[in-house]
Formats: sequence, structure tokens, C-alpha cells
Amino acid sequence: MSRIWSVAVDAPLGPLHYAIPDTLPPEALMPGVSVTVPLGARKIPGVLLEPSESAPEGVRLRETLGLIADRPVIDSKSLAWLQWLAKYYAYPLGPTLQLMFPPLDKSGGRKKARKAPLIQTDMTEGVDHSVALTAEQTEVVNAIAATPGFQTHLLYGVTGSGKTEVYMELIARAAERGEQALVLVPEISLTPQLIQRFARRFGEKIAVIHSHLTPREKTDNWWAAHQGEKPILIGARSALFCPLPKLGIIVIDEEHESSFKQDESLRYHARDAAVMLAKMREIPIVLGSATPSLESWQNAKLGKYRLHRLPSRIHSGGLPRIDVIDLREARDQERQSGRDESRPFWLSQELHLALTETLERGEQAALFLNRRGIAQSVVCPSCGHSSDCPNCEVALTLHGRSHLVCHYCDYHESLKEVCSQCNTGEPKPLGLGTEKIERDLAKLFPNARTVRMDRDEIQSREDLEEAIAKIEKREADILIGTQMIAKGLDFPGLTLVGLVMADIAFNLPDFRASERAFQLLTQVAGRSGRHLKDRSGHVVLQTYNPDHPSIQFTLKHDYEGFAEHDLGFREVLGYPPHGRLAALKFAGPDLQETEDAARRVAELARRSLENAKDPSGKGYSAEAAERADSILVLGPAPAPMAKLRNLYRFQVLIRGQGINSPVSSLCKTLSEHIEARAKSKAPLLPPKVRFSVDVDAVHLL
Ligand code: ADP
Ligand code: ZN
Repeated sequence: MSRIWSVAVDAPLGPLHYAIPDTLPPEALMPGVSVTVPLGARKIPGVLLEPSESAPEGVRLRETLGLIADRPVIDSKSLAWLQWLAKYYAYPLGPTLQLMFPPLDKSGGRKKARKAPLIQTDMTEGVDHSVALTAEQTEVVNAIAATPGFQTHLLYGVTGSGKTEVYMELIARAAERGEQALVLVPEISLTPQLIQRFARRFGEKIAVIHSHLTPREKTDNWWAAHQGEKPILIGARSALFCPLPKLGIIVIDEEHESSFKQDESLRYHARDAAVMLAKMREIPIVLGSATPSLESWQNAKLGKYRLHRLPSRIHSGGLPRIDVIDLREARDQERQSGRDESRPFWLSQELHLALTETLERGEQAALFLNRRGIAQSVVCPSCGHSSDCPNCEVALTLHGRSHLVCHYCDYHESLKEVCSQCNTGEPKPLGLGTEKIERDLAKLFPNARTVRMDRDEIQSREDLEEAIAKIEKREADILIGTQMIAKGLDFPGLTLVGLVMADIAFNLPDFRASERAFQLLTQVAGRSGRHLKDRSGHVVLQTYNPDHPSIQFTLKHDYEGFAEHDLGFREVLGYPPHGRLAALKFAGPDLQETEDAARRVAELARRSLENAKDPSGKGYSAEAAERADSILVLGPAPAPMAKLRNLYRFQVLIRGQGINSPVSSLCKTLSEHIEARAKSKAPLLPPKVRFSVDVDAVHLL
């Protein structure tokens, strides 16, 4: 047995070779074992990859320092999956492997039977709460259960169609067979009710991993799932990295959610990573959504994913009726005939009436606006000066009476009575936020009890639980919120949803803006009238762009129409899912230095493509040339948010025609080249410029 091993070390480097000291027994050596290794003057963790005949020439071989007890061996399938992730997302393997371990040591003093802290749930309640599935649900469950082995299923079901019950039935069947299930949800804080429902049905069988737990709680849940004590693991994207020995099925709820894309270090997409994991484990995976991502929809159209539909709501009142209010028209009319000054400017006559009637019937209403605070900017009427953040290229938002806040960094200041620029004008708040809506409603409906759900009001799990309980117990009449109220919430008394200004969602410089807007509007509208039996819920959608496709298709509850429309538009421009897209991101304190660095990397990328296309080049092949020809390097250009937290931001976009375009492998080549040059005399990036590769980029702002 060789005593030299290649080791993936926890540093931004490729694998390194180490000698194994005689003190380590040969039977302890296998791929996936954690060891401590010396690197420079440091001791860092690493994972054994494979034995090697000899070390590369010129390398001074050092010895590993010992096994890391308590760390499970990464099994070969997981190891293969992690290697794929590191390669595909162009991130070093060593740090990728470290994601497989819980945050703390297992700890001998671990208290047994510690309850997984779940939201508002009495776990002892875990008696069977299963309902009898409808014929539609049964058909879906049977179809999915009938395909053993790897298969990706896309469950496209309108809001309230009973998708969650389908997941639970599939999971119950897997548990009966002694298999484990992994359920990924976008952000736990956005989907508390889903966990409650799982807890009611499965009780103590559940482990949870998410960002609201302490490291100790995470570690305990991690071990409980890893050792198979808990057959079901529910979590945010990072739960994907808890190795489940008997994994038999994966469920991704709200698969279209952009929060499944990790936005730092290993920039993986949890949905795509999960599909790859299912493939390697040869198990089924179910992606569920009322508004599938266009990537998944396209895969279903191509037959790669199997499509299942749940086209109708369980409670037969039907999908809500949506009225669109054209704010331009309303404004023009009021100019002519004067307006009722007691009504706030953001509230149309129609929404006002609907609110009044809903409250009179003793039902609940929700008002949605994707913006916090009182006003989104403050502008001087005499010189036009707007109060912007000194650290970021954004306007400051007004909160309370006089508190100006940056939503991207910690900066805040108080509102001046006189403009600091011209010393004459009195700065005026412009625009609207949830805080202002709540304030106006208090005047308009003094007897109505309101609950506001946004990041100012809801800062902990307790806040969230409290707000939800208030609405469930009918201790509140009007819910006001940002996207925090868009997802997953299911309130029987809620029969009216008002979208105060739908436009905010699609006025963003991102090719996915229409898709996100459609998803958001559909999800928010879907909160209305979910439990009505003899009539449908009501939605009033206020907008300045009633003809925008995102609105027109929402109105008709026509996801498929929207998907065709947007896919057509993307095909013309070669955007995903018709092609591949990666973003090289640069951020640095000096504008020129950052832009120059971005330019050098863009040039390197272009040169590497030219080389591949050059017939006289070394190792030329027509096939590789064609593949290189599918790629376009765009930029550098300033990111849409050009300055954040005192860092200037630039992007280079790499766009590949066709789904098989080798964009990811170009990114890998580039980052390896940059890393190799980093220690040379001519590094491509100055030390202060941060560089990252985002393959299949989702967050482009
Ligand atoms: P989705 O996940 O598609 O939004 P849910 O699973 O939340 O839908 O179902 C909507 C509502 O209908 C929930 O209150 C749920 O408890 C209820 N429900 C789902 N399936 C059934 C069923 N077969 N019988 C009775 N009620 C059901
Ligand atoms: Zn700022």
C-alpha cells in the first residue's frame, strides 16, 4: 500500500501530495478520510483522495499530522458528486469537501433526544394526520412511485393544488421501505407552515437544518440525519451536504426560487446539484412549483424531466379573480374630476372598496409591496439633489419620521430639514414603502388590526411565528408585507390580496426580471381565497403597465402561455435555458484598478477561445473549435449595482449558444490560470480585487 496520498486541502489550491506517517494504520486509509495536514506554517483540514506512486518532481513531501476523529468518511458516491460540483462551478475541491461536515464537533456531551426546534409545533402531536388523497393526487403519486431509479419529476401544480400532500405521501412510502428523504425548501423563514405540516404528520421522524439554528442545533440535527436516526431531513440548500446513508427520494419545493442559488464561495444551484446527486444515487427527485423555472420547464418539454400536473385547487372555489387597475388611467381620471383627499395616493378606489367590503364581512386582506420603509428616496424639490448612500450607488430609504437608511450597508443618517446641497429646499420623500402603507391604513380603517411582515418588523423566528399566529387566530385583519408574504403561507380567512404596485418586480435590468415578476405576482395572488368553497378569492392588482406580459399572463392564470412567450424571447437572444451563462465578478476599492483587472481576465478568456479555434494550434480539433465558437465573452461592464459597500463592481459575462456549450469548462480553465498566476511575478488580479466565478449565474445585479 502506498504511503503517499493526494489530499484535497481546505485552501484555494488543487490537491497536494502528502506522506502518511507509520503511526497511521493502513486500514484507516481510504478515499474520503479526513486528516490534518501542514500547509506553510498552518495546520488545516484535508480529505484523502487517492494513493499515489510518487510525489510530483521537485515537491518536498511533508507528512500528514493525523486523522480527524469524529468526521465521517465521505462515501465514494458523495465524493464523486462533490468532485463534479467543484469542477462544474469552477471552485477548488478542498473547500468544497469541507461543506460535507457539520459546524461543530460531535461532542461527547450531546444530549440525546433533543427536540429539533421547529416552528410552533408540538412534536408529540405526531400522530398520523394524513388526508385521503384526491384522484389527481393519487395519480401523480402512483406515476412517480412507479419509476424506480433515477428520474427527475417536475410537479407543476397551481397554488393550493395539494403538492405538499403529494410530497408527504411519497416520503411516507419511502420511510416504510426504510429509506430516507431529503426535502429542500427555499428559505425556512419563508416557509414555516410547510415544516409545521410535516411535523404534524411525521413528528419525531424529522431533522431540520437551516440558518435559524445554532451551530450546536445544526450539528445535532446533522448527526441524527446522517446516522439514520431521523428518516426525514428538511432544510434550506445547505442540507444537501448532509450525507444520508439511506437516501431514497429528494423533494425540492418551490424549485423556481432564486435563493436555491448560493451567492458566495461554491456558487452552486441547489436544485441542479440535487438532480446530479439523485442521478449518482440512482433515486427519484421531485421538483415542485406553481410557476416552474423556465430551465425546468424546458427540460420537461425536452423530455429530460417527467411532467406531472395538478391543475386545480383542492378546495373547489377555484383560482382567485384578478382585477387589474391601470394606475395611469386612474391618475388621469382624478386629474379631471378631482380626487378624494382622504384616500392615500397609492390606493385606488377599487382596492379601497374591496378592502372595506372584506373587513365588513369579517374576512382578512393582505397588501403586498416589495419595498420597505416610508419612502424609497428623498429629493430636494428646489435643486433635485437626492440623498444617496456614500458607500453604495443607491438612494437612501426613509424609515419612521426622519431615519434615512441604506438597504445594502449599515449606513444611516437623519433627514435634514434643509437640503445639504442648495441650503434652501426642504427635502421631500418620494415613493412608497410598507411602513407608509401601514400608517395610512391606521388612519383609513382605525378599527382594523394590522400586522406588518417585512425585514424591519420580522427579525427572528419568534417574530415570524407571532405574526403568523396572529393571522391564523384572526387577531389581525390586514396583513401588509414584502415578498415575505408571497410564499407558502396558507391562511383560511384571507380572501383579498392587493398588489399595491406590481411594476417594481419587472423594472430590473436582468433577463429573468419578467419571469421573477410573473412568479411573484402569481404566488402573491395565490394567497387569496385558498379555502373558499362556494366562491373564489379576490385579487386587485395595481400597475402602471397593465399590458406587460408578466401581468397579462398572471391575470389569465396562464403559466404555460407565459413560459412560451418568455422562452421565445430568450431564444432570440440566446439566453438560458437555450444557452449557458456565467458571470465573472470583480469587486475592488479602486474603480480603475478593478476595471483593468476585469479587462485582463476578459482578454484572457477571448484569447483562450481564439486559441481553441486556431487550426495551427497545438492539439487542435474541429470539434473543440466548434464548441469554442459557441461562446461569446461580453464586457467588462459595470454591474447594474455599480458600487456596493465602497466596492466598485464589474462583470464579464460568458454566454454560450446551446445547452451543451462548454461555458463551465472555460470558467474552470480561467480560474485555474488566475490561481496559477497569483503566485507569479505577474498576477492577473491585484490583491485588493475580489474575483469570483458564477456558473449558471442567477443573481446578476
Ligand atoms: P400546494 O402545496 O400545492 O400549495 P397544499 O398541499 O398546501 O397545496 O394544499 C392546499 C390545501 O388543501 C391545504 O390546506 C391542504 O391541507 C389541503 N389538502 C391538500 N390535499 C388534500 C386532500 N386530499 N384532502 C383534503 N385537503 C387537502
Ligand atoms: Zn450603503
